[in-house]
Amino acid sequence: MTEKILDHKRKEKPSFTSLIEKKRDGGEFTADEIRQIVDSVMDSEMPEAQQAALAMAIYFKQMSAQETALLAEELRLSGDVIDLDRLTQPKIAKVSTGGVGDKTSMVLGPLGAAAGVIMPGMNGKDEEFCISTVEKLSSIPGFKGKATMDQFRQQLERVGCAVTEQCSEIAPADDILYKLRQKTGTIPSLPLITGSILSKKLAEGCEGLVIDVKWGNGSFIRDLEQAKQLARIVTRVARSLNRKCVALVTDINQPLGDSVGTGLEVLEAVRLLKGEGPEDLQDLVLKLGMEVVRLAGVAGSTLSAKQTVEKHLKDGSALEKFKAMVRAQGGKTDWIDDPSKFPKAKFIRKLPAPKRGYVHTIDAGKIAQGVRLLATLKDGTLDPSVGVTEIRKVGTQVKQGEPLIMIHYNDEAKVDAALPYFRDAYRLAPKRPNMPPLVVERVA
Ligand code: URA
Repeated sequence: MTEKILDHKRKEKPSFTSLIEKKRDGGEFTADEIRQIVDSVMDSEMPEAQQAALAMAIYFKQMSAQETALLAEELRLSGDVIDLDRLTQPKIAKVSTGGVGDKTSMVLGPLGAAAGVIMPGMNGKDEEFCISTVEKLSSIPGFKGKATMDQFRQQLERVGCAVTEQCSEIAPADDILYKLRQKTGTIPSLPLITGSILSKKLAEGCEGLVIDVKWGNGSFIRDLEQAKQLARIVTRVARSLNRKCVALVTDINQPLGDSVGTGLEVLEAVRLLKGEGPEDLQDLVLKLGMEVVRLAGVAGSTLSAKQTVEKHLKDGSALEKFKAMVRAQGGKTDWIDDPSKFPKAKFIRKLPAPKRGYVHTIDAGKIAQGVRLLATLKDGTLDPSVGVTEIRKVGTQVKQGEPLIMIHYNDEAKVDAALPYFRDAYRLAPKRPNMPPLVVERVA
């Protein structure tokens, strides 16, 4: 037992019940109390029922910025930290709260690395229906999504970017709390999300964070006000922990880009790295990329940030970094120059538009649920070749019978199960709907 814990145990401590009551009644935890909570969660001293009650009290009564910063710090200290101090380059993490069809992390790691920024990318599990970046990259033949902390650090030194699963040594108390939150309906608690994200990113050694707070039916945050509040809380708490932070609140009320599925999204990310991807994805990569290079100090003005990002996408250096990252993680790269070598589904069929009109809304969550049904294999992994492409986006005019999406599949029974989700996802209307902006708010 460390000195810190011994010291702490010697002090008179409040009971778990009184801690729950304090939060239930709107009280603010002291630094000692937050430490006691995290320690007792870590060593299973606090019974799960009381952990659940505490999480629910926090969900309803919130935490101040000060409490949230203390929570992030204690969660970080529950495990190991990656020491990147030897690396002289700026270290920036790009984080997304998770959204359907979001391929930006696959592009921004290599893009930032090409611009001279170290981009640590440890990936937590995505909420609900979303496919995590590691799950997507694992569709590449040979790609390993697991690494030790040393391997992760070495790859950052050599390549500048890495995307792996979260190492179990990083903020293990967060892992315990997160699983508890999944069972208790407390995932959407803003201070708990903030503490969770920041603890891991601090432990990964990053000096700054660009966070994409996804709002909409393709995210676990369905309420715009909540997304905006999260953006404000994260940036405020990150700054109080001496980390630079910019948050963008972005619309995910339809899938981002034009495909959903593991390998199909990787192919789309590569198209983007070749300067070819769909407009919404290009736009968001440009905006997030500009935030990364500005936060890193690689570019000063908005104009030079834009030029820096565009240069690395155009001259192929971001694509080369992507190849280097895939190679470093054991993946094949021959398909990057010749995408026809990437695993393909046996069958493709269209989802026909039931009538003529404009695509009025798309429930991105339903698209993702359909894709999960279509792609999940017996061992729980996702078929790399399966998913949907050519998604007709909101505002597109279609004739009856024209494809709304193209479905790539290997199993007829699974496509029958997935089709109702895809059909339900689309609403057509006679008039073109108003198009909401992709970036709703920037908090810096
Ligand atoms: N992502 C995280 O890492 N933690 C949360 O609590 C929610 C999203």
